[in-house]
Amino acid sequence: EGTISFKDVRFHYDPDRPILKGIDFEVPAGRTIAIVGPSGAGKSTISRLLFRFYDVTGGSVEIDGQDLRDVTQESVRHAIGMVPQDTVLFNDTIAYNIRYGRPAASDEEVREAARMAQIHDFIEKLPKGYASEVGERGLKLSGGEKQRVAIARTILKSPPILILDEATSALDTHTEREIQSALDEVSQNRTTLVIAHRLSTVVNADQIIVLEAGRIAERGTHTELLDSG
Ligand code: ADP
Ligand code: ADP
Repeated sequence: EGTISFKDVRFHYDPDRPILKGIDFEVPAGRTIAIVGPSGAGKSTISRLLFRFYDVTGGSVEIDGQDLRDVTQESVRHAIGMVPQDTVLFNDTIAYNIRYGRPAASDEEVREAARMAQIHDFIEKLPKGYASEVGERGLKLSGGEKQRVAIARTILKSPPILILDEATSALDTHTEREIQSALDEVSQNRTTLVIAHRLSTVVNADQIIVLEAGRIAERGTHTELLDSG
């Protein structure tokens, strides 16, 4: 479950300006694809089409062989988890933030998700900078810690498809390394689409496509792309 197909996908926000000019790729269930390219190439647009925030203007996007235009937006979004590079937290405990969208989740499930994302030590804390009276429960979260809250939320949601947006990640290398194991954990057995600026950050993807101005300029594994220069 979770096979993604883009078939000759074309898209424009404005009819005078095509953004995606015929994008073809398939990600078998459980595999990882990385979409790499400069700012403005159309990477985020691909993830928005997958979420069905917009419909394609040509070609089709399919999940498990089903055209997204034939399914509800709600069911599509239910199947996809997103770990954005910049997570905005609610003014409530970390546990609340992890549980958000999953009110029926048990405390045990929340703790387990927090453990996998390595934030179990502070799930009763409040993210500082939001509450005015947080007192000693207030905790200033780093960018990496906030991202781990998003990872824990995604683990709890347990969607078959995952989007990791690393493109504008402001994380330093140390933090990046720290959250890598949590990311590996969450992408395990899920179809994963990684959005990134640089080839160097997507070494483990099963396939990589390099997007330039709405077209696939190159595709292959990390090694193949390095060999081709
Ligand atoms: P990337 O993620 O690779 O940086 P995007 O998919 O965000 O690229 O954007 C691709 C192009 O589409 C850019 O030129 C951008 O300015 C344009 N674009 C993005 N969102 C919109 C929008 N909502 N309306 C009009 N143009 C947009
Ligand atoms: P659910 O209740 O199934 O979690 P939501 O509608 O709350 O559904 O969210 C579905 C997914 O869409 C979530 O993983 C969320 O992170 C993602 N999402 C929501 N809004 C946006 C957005 N503007 N851009 C990117 N991803 C989003």
